[in-house]
Amino acid sequence: MRAANWRPRSRPAVHTLAERLYGESLASATASPALLTTWMERLHGSFEAAEFPLMDDDWVRARRSHCAAWRTLSGDLEADTRAYAQMLDTFAPAAVVFVEKLGVNEKGVWHTVNGARVSAAEVGHAHVLAGLARERGIYTVGIGDGGNEIGFGVIAAAVREIHPHGRMCRCGCGGGIATVVPTDALVVAAISNWGAYGVAAALAVMLRNPEVLHTPEMEALMLERCVARGGFDGNYTAQVPFVDGTSAQVQASLVTMLGQIVANALRSHERGF
Ligand SMILES: [Zn+2]
Repeated sequence: MRAANWRPRSRPAVHTLAERLYGESLASATASPALLTTWMERLHGSFEAAEFPLMDDDWVRARRSHCAAWRTLSGDLEADTRAYAQMLDTFAPAAVVFVEKLGVNEKGVWHTVNGARVSAAEVGHAHVLAGLARERGIYTVGIGDGGNEIGFGVIAAAVREIHPHGRMCRCGCGGGIATVVPTDALVVAAISNWGAYGVAAALAVMLRNPEVLHTPEMEALMLERCVARGGFDGNYTAQVPFVDGTSAQVQASLVTMLGQIVANALRSHERGF
């Protein structure tokens, strides 16, 4: 799901919701411009869903001390690069996770999964952040579902081979949608959100903290709020609580199953046989 109202804003390039950051995480509720950062070794609370266009800044600032969100950047390469460096300086994250963030192809052009051109003003320069993080030795993760998102650079040849627009886009740049931007780890899912939820479930088990994974109720609420603020389904392109053509019930069901897997993984008892 995309935030339909997402456009560059005349805000400071870096806008933090909380100044007393001490760790934990920001989890993007949907595939959004939000940056997901984790501080695994210091994680002792719950993940917070804070798809930032939907949150009231003052409300969050007053109540949550461990979330951060960046407003959409300018789309100007130099300004965005400075902002990304400032983010890394400020928060020194252990990992940077990109959820369905578009990456450039070999021509330096962004595309939708259907091969249409996307501008820097629409997506910023998140691939620059990926590069800066890797230069600093910060672990990077790319989660996506189309082959055009940050991280798929590690299997760009396969994307060109498999995807209908992998080699040839529809914008005339001469390249396909396959991004050349790599990450240390790539998580491929049928729907990007699901990949992120899978990562959250794995973290919940590794950290022995089931609250790291959100609940089905939170999932339903996030979808409802996204739609209320103008978000639309990427498949039907309609303002409905669907994610890439699958209903809110399906989303909640997936989270339910993941929650059960986490609970079972964290439980041990004598079965008596
Ligand atoms: Zn193109």
